[in-house]
This record gives sequence, structure tokens and C-alpha cells, in this order.
Amino acid sequence: MWFFTRKGGVSEPPYDSLNVSTLVGDERSAVEENLSRIRASMSGRSSAWVRQVAGDGVVRVEEGRFGGEGDALVTGSAGFSLAVAIADCVPVALVGDGVVGMVHSGWRGTLKGISGKAAKEMGDPSVVRAYIGPGIRRCCYEVSEEVAGRFADRFGRGVVDGRMLSLAASIETDLREAGVAEVHDLGLCTGCRTDLFYSHRKEGPKTGRNLAAVALEPGGHGGGAR
Ligand SMILES: [Zn+2]
Repeated sequence: MWFFTRKGGVSEPPYDSLNVSTLVGDERSAVEENLSRIRASMSGRSSAWVRQVAGDGVVRVEEGRFGGEGDALVTGSAGFSLAVAIADCVPVALVGDGVVGMVHSGWRGTLKGISGKAAKEMGDPSVVRAYIGPGIRRCCYEVSEEVAGRFADRFGRGVVDGRMLSLAASIETDLREAGVAEVHDLGLCTGCRTDLFYSHRKEGPKTGRNLAAVALEPGGHGGGAR
């Protein structure tokens, strides 16, 4: 799996430099160059992606191309990666037995249990390993009282501290409820580390998107993934 930082690309400020989105005002040619560098660093793999709509749709894809609308991708096919674009929302990579998944978990999708839903879509969730990537953390993520209340009701008081919300803790609870036994959290905050990651909260709408991806190894029967 890959959690790309914002470094190593060609986009000019405020999109510097490895921005993967053409929807934020960056030059298309720069984004294309960035994507081609990312592809090279993934051993030439193409990526399957979806139009992210902050929902809980899980899309099963068989090829490394546009897969429609949704916020999670699942595949049992090797040779291409599943990719999501992130600026504060939490990327969650799921590695099962001959199947992988990639989730874009914003607060709406988290509340709807998108990570657990994707894990269940992968067959037996108890063999799925989950990796919670760089996203905005409780230290930097203030939400409305109403949203904080909904999270506390759904995932327990421990996921909020006043109006500061932990998406990661909510996602972990969701995954464990779905039967996922192994959950790893990289612990990186996009809001604290704008030197490494784009943060919509800290930088406003004129910022880039980071790429997160996961792939099955070609010929990797039995859960070979990276
Ligand atoms: Zn932070």
C-alpha cells in the first residue's frame, strides 16, 4: 500500500507539489505529470478510482480505471491499484485473503460505517488487516455540537472530546464491530503536518489532494498485497 505525501511533484504553490486532483484549480499538465510519477513509483500500475461523494458506496472493480461513484473500492484482481484522493478525510487500506480494499472515510462516510461495510464486502472480515492512514486527527478537527453528538451516540463518548472528533477512533470501532481483528493506525495528522500532507481544514479550498492506494500483488494468491 502507498500513502503518498505532497512531496516529489511538479505543482506550484498552493498545490505544491504532488497534487493528484484537477478539481481544485491546479494545472492539468502538472497533475498529469504527478500521476505519471506516482504510477512509476507503483511499478507502472494503473489505478482504479471513483468519484468520491462523501457517502458509503462500496464499488467492486476489476480493472484499473474509473469505477463510477462511491467512497470505497474493493477488488480481487491483481495488477492495478485502488486509489483515493485525500485532504483531511481518512484513507483506510484493507488487506484480506486475495482481496484488497481502499476507503475514503470523511465524517459522513465514517458515521455510515463505510470501512466496516467495505471489510464485509471482502468476504471474511476476521482475516482483513486494516491500516488507517494520514488524516485529520482529534487535535485539529473541531465539528459542530450536533455532529459530535451523533458520533458519541454511534461510537461512544471516547471518540469525542467536547467538539473535537477522532475519525480514526470511530473508524477503528466500526471495523472491530464489523469483525476486523487487526487494525493498525499510522497516527499521522494532516492538520498538524501540512509540510507533508494537504489539509483542507488548515489550508482552505486552495490546496491539493494526496493519493492513497493499495494493490494485490500479481500472482499473489492468499493475500499477497502491497
Ligand atoms: Zn493535528
